[in-house]
Amino acid sequence: MVPHLHAPQNLPGLSSAGQLSLVHWPHQCEVIRDRIEHIDWTPPRPEPLYTPMGLEMKPSYQPAGEGTVIYLTEEANKDSGFVYSQVRGLSPSKQILHQNGDNTLIFEARFESGNLQKVVKVNEFEYQLTLRTDLYTSKYTQWYYFQVSNTQAGMPYRFTIVNFTKPDSLYKRGMRPLLYSEADAKKHNVGWRRTGNEIKYYRNNAGQGGQQYFSLTWTFQFPHNRDTCYFAHCYPYTYSNLQEYLVAISKDPVKSKFCKIHILCHSLARNIVYVLTITNPHEGDKDTKRKAVILTARVHPGETNTSWIMKGFLDYILGNSGNAQVLRDNFVFKVVPMLNPDGVIVGNHRCSLAGQDLNRKYKSNLKEFYPSIWYTRNMIKRVMEERDILLYCDFHGHNRKKNVFVYGCERKQQAKAPNLHPRVFPLLLSKICPDKFSFPDCRFRVQKSKEGTGRVVMWKMGISNSYTLEASICGSKLGQRRSTHFNTKDLESVGHHFCDALLDYCVPNMKEHEEMVKQQAKVNSEGLNSDVLDRDSSTQTSNSSDSCDLVAHQLKLGTKIKTKTSGEHIHRIAKDRSRESKNVSFKMEVSTSTSLGQEQTTQGIETLHKIFQELDPVGRDLNWGTIPQPIEHFISQNLFLPPTALQEMCYASERGGVRPVSGCHPPKMESRSREKEEKIHHRVKLPITASVKQVGECFRFWFSGSEN
Ligand SMILES: [Zn+2]
Repeated sequence: MVPHLHAPQNLPGLSSAGQLSLVHWPHQCEVIRDRIEHIDWTPPRPEPLYTPMGLEMKPSYQPAGEGTVIYLTEEANKDSGFVYSQVRGLSPSKQILHQNGDNTLIFEARFESGNLQKVVKVNEFEYQLTLRTDLYTSKYTQWYYFQVSNTQAGMPYRFTIVNFTKPDSLYKRGMRPLLYSEADAKKHNVGWRRTGNEIKYYRNNAGQGGQQYFSLTWTFQFPHNRDTCYFAHCYPYTYSNLQEYLVAISKDPVKSKFCKIHILCHSLARNIVYVLTITNPHEGDKDTKRKAVILTARVHPGETNTSWIMKGFLDYILGNSGNAQVLRDNFVFKVVPMLNPDGVIVGNHRCSLAGQDLNRKYKSNLKEFYPSIWYTRNMIKRVMEERDILLYCDFHGHNRKKNVFVYGCERKQQAKAPNLHPRVFPLLLSKICPDKFSFPDCRFRVQKSKEGTGRVVMWKMGISNSYTLEASICGSKLGQRRSTHFNTKDLESVGHHFCDALLDYCVPNMKEHEEMVKQQAKVNSEGLNSDVLDRDSSTQTSNSSDSCDLVAHQLKLGTKIKTKTSGEHIHRIAKDRSRESKNVSFKMEVSTSTSLGQEQTTQGIETLHKIFQELDPVGRDLNWGTIPQPIEHFISQNLFLPPTALQEMCYASERGGVRPVSGCHPPKMESRSREKEEKIHHRVKLPITASVKQVGECFRFWFSGSEN
């Protein structure tokens, strides 16, 4: 018997008065009274990563006594554990007073989601910063968010954060800190942007309790004199931001009809954990046929990018597009947008106020210690009693890898002939979102260390599409977005694409399509070893990606069949989709036969053959059997995997050009004019929107070359 939630109630935070529920802080936290707000802004162009010069300095840790302490908060260590909370927290104690004419920077982080423990002024323009560990723990430092005022424009400042605990970081691979200038926001309507030069992340000369510390250092200039600026690890998204968003929904006469906001439970500090139920109103008993989709985010408070993905998802699903209508007609969405509000409020990186990583507690029955986890699992059990759950996904941010990808679950005994079903949704997502989402980065293993995660527990409860979505805190390695940072619009777009992929996956004949996809995936995965697919993209061979393609290819056929047999509405969606997608510029004649076995594999190859003939880059009738393997590889990949992923798999980037990964050969370049060589070199890099035709053209040179 699964205990039921409270009956729907009028939320104190979302009443008609439109007031926010008050934010509760652990009693020893000092909180400034100012309300911190930032404008929404998207940079006109994707912001490039930092390219290391190799000459970056590595300032050493300055021990106590060196330099002047100008900012210090001690509240984290006053109690060994959470005791009680109060609204707003304590009034803050005064920090170091400034004399007139003193140009020392003034630091502040005692606000929602802020994190900064200590600042030492080392030199006139150089500051050493220490982050606060997660409350009631002595570890977990990663998230930072603080205010700096009393700035001087154009001066060469250096900040060094000295107590990171992870040896690896995206700051080693080009990630730059975020800067927000209030003057720029006011005068130029410019918001969060990337900043920093001479960026270096390195093992330093400090540590504590056997824990080695690592430093992040960067130089920068403030844009204005006497400005108030902010620095952050990623785009902040606070509990109050969420509440404002939810209040707006509850006040919207249209959205509030199909989006119901309830209290899932209260956190340890008595903050509300919200759950949203999104579905179109239904007639009679029809509703029970709707499958459920469960989405959760911000179990790890420092992974703020996931709130932007969640916002993108909610904007889309609560919008008035035809696609959103179809999804709301077909599904019941249960959304917990912020699983760890306390952690978000106090500026933790990973833990709740229990000092624990909540994403290892999904097997726990300690309702009082981990309420949001216990109630989420209970809610899902309850949903399972009334309807099928099509998909569960918990959103996370990744601090070491680039791109967006998922972790799914597959059984070990399926390794030799895997049922590829859990791979289908991420594959569709990678097709829709080719310059951000990487299918080759996805993993489908169930590791022992992950047994307490939402993904594994929900999978064991019977949800086969159970995922952790990981979005890089930094940016993408794919296509045109290679070597650029994600901004908030990029993150929101991942949420939109998530909806698109759901639509592709399920609508209109969910059961039928699902069955077809299953069968096709199964048939075409014969001989495909999932371990091969599980390799890092950096070691991916063409063999594994070819196998991948074949599955993908059949899926593509499945998608085509689907659009043929679907209603008018779906036709329109498909039309819109094909207009958006320039990747495939030809028409395929596809039999609607769903016969299985060898026949269909042959059909797949024949289709490829036809496509290739259509391209016919050198005007001669080619025998498919004699087509060099890399071309087959290119064509098949271009059809069913994003060209950007293809680029990743075929070529590993190297200083001064590209180099083939084993099993894949680039066109020969000898005995050509420099001009021609540059041309082909450029083409081999494959633009993100490369059509199959373009890929063919790319090889025209190869054919003509081999005739010489
Ligand atoms: Zn996480």
